[in-house]
Amino acid sequence: MSFADLGLSPELLKAVNDAGYDTPTPIQAQAIPPVLMMRDIIGIAQTGTGKTASFVLPMIDILAQGRSRARMPRSLILEPTRELAAQVAENFEKYGANHKLSMALLIGGVSMGDQIKALEKGVDVLIATPGRLMDLFGRGNILLTGCSLLVIDEADRMLDMGFIPDIEEICTKLPKQRQTLLFSATMPAPIKKLADRFLDNPKRIEV
Ligand code: AMP
Repeated sequence: MSFADLGLSPELLKAVNDAGYDTPTPIQAQAIPPVLMMRDIIGIAQTGTGKTASFVLPMIDILAQGRSRARMPRSLILEPTRELAAQVAENFEKYGANHKLSMALLIGGVSMGDQIKALEKGVDVLIATPGRLMDLFGRGNILLTGCSLLVIDEADRMLDMGFIPDIEEICTKLPKQRQTLLFSATMPAPIKKLADRFLDNPKRIEV
């Protein structure tokens, strides 16, 4: 299996080549084609398996079509910690260097002013920790009704950190017609329940 077999655009194949990757990792080989076909997926994979690129690469190709509108992000990636959110943002910058996708990182410990300014311009990709996202949402700075692609990353860590009620609330604010990708290293019962409630006929991938 090579990256060229996965359905990615020539621009993304170049980005992968520039990153120095020869072959897709198992999670990438199994997740990228169904994500590009707009399927929901449950990816059971640990950090270090190449999980981030398995959603960032196809998201760039999906988001390359269409444009963002003020205060209405087109996609949302939820991460349990600031560090993980910042790493995912770096991945978007690395693989999306040739795409003009706009991004906002909504994490705690940073002033809200710049985050609000970025949202007002319109963003393609919102990368957030649940707490800060809920704060800005409560203040009326974000509309999630245009957000048709959701990634819930590290779901089991979200559970450990007590974020599941926030995630459930966030999910109800997104349009029902959307694509949802959930990643978790393990699948404890509350995560299965979350997936049953908010994912639509997901393809399950375990590596
Ligand atoms: P992740 O599991 O997303 O945290 O990725 C772990 C590390 O693997 C990162 O440093 C990536 O740059 C690297 N990586 C991701 N995909 C590949 C690949 N196909 N071949 C080699 N390294 C990769």
